[in-house]
Amino acid sequence: MIAIMPIDQEFEKKLKPVARSEHGYLIWGPGKDGAAAESDEVKSAYEAAGEKFEPLGIHGTYVAVDFDDCVADGACLPACPVGVFEWTKNPGFSGTEEKLDLTDKAAPVRESDCIWCMACVTVCPTEAVRVDEALVAVAENAESTLAAAESSEPAAESNEPKAESSESE
Ligand code: SF4
Repeated sequence: MIAIMPIDQEFEKKLKPVARSEHGYLIWGPGKDGAAAESDEVKSAYEAAGEKFEPLGIHGTYVAVDFDDCVADGACLPACPVGVFEWTKNPGFSGTEEKLDLTDKAAPVRESDCIWCMACVTVCPTEAVRVDEALVAVAENAESTLAAAESSEPAAESNEPKAESSESE
């Protein structure tokens, strides 16, 4: 059974931009215990893969996917008419069943291509996706904030979600 745990509709007021994905979109943290933490299937997939289950935060800003609510259902990827999403662990693929396994996540790798149709928001079974054109400006400001933080804290370690590596996205 999939728990419905919607993405925070005001996450930009509560979280901070903590990293930038290899695709250029922002990652907001800290993460949370979301729908993925409620799913025995997802947690079993992490165990089978030998991966630690930990909060991952929200990926993207104006096309935002709460990775802690994403259970790799995969409905959003083919629903998008302009191909915004790809599987994190199977780059270049966007079919519902083309995920690597249930540890995979739908990443908004072409966030700026969004045409605001809301199809992805509608189909997500856990309501993990939020799309809001008004947040384009928020993303621009957050990018500046992150860049300033990166230049002033070159070697800081934190407990916040990590930037995606080639293995994780
Ligand atoms: S709102 Fe439409 S165009 Fe934008 S990411 Fe979602 S499905 Fe794609």
